[in-house]
Amino acid sequence: MTNIERLKAGFKVFREDYYSGHRHQFEDLKQGQRPRVMIISCSDSRVDPAILTNSGPGEIFTVRNVANLVPPYEETGGYHGVSAALEFAVCNLQVSNIIVLGHSQCGGIGALMADGVSGRDKFISNWMTIAEPARRQVNAELPSADIATRCRAAERAAVALSLDNLRTFPFVAERLLSGELTLHGWYFDLENGDLLEYQPETAMFQSIV
Ligand SMILES: [Zn+2]
Repeated sequence: MTNIERLKAGFKVFREDYYSGHRHQFEDLKQGQRPRVMIISCSDSRVDPAILTNSGPGEIFTVRNVANLVPPYEETGGYHGVSAALEFAVCNLQVSNIIVLGHSQCGGIGALMADGVSGRDKFISNWMTIAEPARRQVNAELPSADIATRCRAAERAAVALSLDNLRTFPFVAERLLSGELTLHGWYFDLENGDLLEYQPETAMFQSIV
């Protein structure tokens, strides 16, 4: 079976099992979506927010990109994919929670920590400049740590940075102030199968398990 055939066979299983078993739910979803949570996660194939949170269709509005980064608010022209999804989730769907979900062994953060911003590719280096403050912070705090330790620290620092960047969007800041919206930083530890939550008071991550 080819990879594509495997996926088509997978859809048939989904249709027979899940879709048939959740007929009423899909009847409701036909009218529209009303997710209460937005998750911004990495494109990495090992970090699927719906699988990790045992969520079904209609539950989470998701944006995935390299290294789960949120750029700071800017009004320049260009194709602002994350900002557009964020605006839709917050202003139209009126989600009440946004989770930035980072993870261990992130390839994007690995490249950033190994090279800094190398400029050898067309798009990745420029995209990863969003996380440059996290790289500088970790290198200043852990100057003699090995690369793996600094990568794990940068993956977490980048989550905190994306939370800061979320606050630069006026429509987010407004709703944080009124209490309509809450931000969360999560970190999936692939090696240990753990999920850690960012504690803003201490700037540390703590296991939820
Ligand atoms: Zn990643």
